[in-house]
Amino acid sequence: MASEKQIHVGSVPIGGGAPVAVQTMTKTETANVAATVDQILKVAEAGADIVRLAVPRDKDAAALPEIIERSPIPIIADIHFNHTLALKSIQAGAHCVRLNPGNIGGPEKVAEVVELAKRTGTPLRVGVNSGSLPKHLLELEFSDPVEALVAAAVETVELMERLDFYNFKVSMKSTSVPNTIASNRKLAQRIPYPLHLGITEAGTKWSGSLKSAVGLGTLLADNIGDTIRISLSTFHAEEEVKVAWEILKALKLRERGPVLIACPTCGRLQFDMDTVVAEVEERLRAYEDPIEVSVLGCAVNGIGEARHADFGITGAKDMGMIYSKGEPLKKVPTEALVDELFKEIDRYYAAGKTVQRDEEAAAEAREWLAANEDTTAMTPERIAALEAAAAHEDAAAEEVLDSMLAATAAGANEGPVQAEPAAQAVQAAAVQQPAVQQPAVQGPAVQVAGRRFSRR
Ligand code: SF4
Repeated sequence: MASEKQIHVGSVPIGGGAPVAVQTMTKTETANVAATVDQILKVAEAGADIVRLAVPRDKDAAALPEIIERSPIPIIADIHFNHTLALKSIQAGAHCVRLNPGNIGGPEKVAEVVELAKRTGTPLRVGVNSGSLPKHLLELEFSDPVEALVAAAVETVELMERLDFYNFKVSMKSTSVPNTIASNRKLAQRIPYPLHLGITEAGTKWSGSLKSAVGLGTLLADNIGDTIRISLSTFHAEEEVKVAWEILKALKLRERGPVLIACPTCGRLQFDMDTVVAEVEERLRAYEDPIEVSVLGCAVNGIGEARHADFGITGAKDMGMIYSKGEPLKKVPTEALVDELFKEIDRYYAAGKTVQRDEEAAAEAREWLAANEDTTAMTPERIAALEAAAAHEDAAAEEVLDSMLAATAAGANEGPVQAEPAAQAVQAAAVQQPAVQQPAVQGPAVQVAGRRFSRR
């Protein structure tokens, strides 16, 4: 569930049903104003809503006013161990301060920071780390690390409430993906405050992105989490922002820029798709609209799964085709596919988002597609469609079985079993089947994901 309460970090709402905010952290020395502002501009350009800066020394706090003045997005000061830096950051105008009450020097110092935050209307991010839980929870951490993390977070929340402070969000950081998922699920049930999600020290761009996608994606899909940060071992903070956006776009939680769909390729691939996909992805960065662009490795499958894409390309050895919303637009030599695709996209925008279709070129492309398509080939896309239909069939059969069992149980008490409702359910289930075109079956049958289909 989305958090009940909402706070504002600068102008960005967090929680209470607001869009999940993307944040990152600069990797520069904060006192180096030029380098820090340069990185902030880059992350803002990549789509960060908020940025956090490490403030470990007085000179970092002293740099904050100028950085805040020059930043296009709100600034969070990240403080550990030293409550005077938290006070200085608030006085410098930070839009939010992150601190872990457990390592800031005791409840009196926390109270001092909270008092100033109240007076200035500055929100705090309070939280706990799996590596530094309070001593009285160490035994629990050993037996039940998830409950220990949640208990520590709840204690922090209770401390804030005792101080009559409610302008905060909460984070629980763990390097373990399963513990992050389990603890945030529990905490979301227990507190109404916005949650900050992240996997601590997730790793390199590759493994860290995957861990974050699994951990944060699972929680976000359950509608848990109000702001996210992807922690990657890279100096380029904008990479973290791009990964965050891909997660949010994949879950359809937010839209930003085009969506690229590309087939996974298989033995039917007929052109250098790696290069083409990379080029298409790069050139799409120049567009802000969330159009969907698809790249298919061959025309054997027709336009298939890419039928809904705003634009797409598919190629054979020396020729390819451009299509839009499932309709061929024109055929072009393979080496011109990408340029021609972007010409069509630009024409679409120039015409006020209307696809420009030349009927003669479209007819030629349809002909090319018909010559290259093979409606009998068991492509990955068709196998997936068959599996989806089979799963649907299984679900319908289960429903019928359940209703028959229920009728049997009722009949045991009330007399003869009524067969009619079950028969009607079978008929209804048959009517609801999606219309999947079954390709012609040739050759020996192979086992695919527990079902028997024939592959040519
Ligand atoms: S059959 Fe499907 S996965 Fe294989 S190259 Fe063609 S479009 Fe790509």
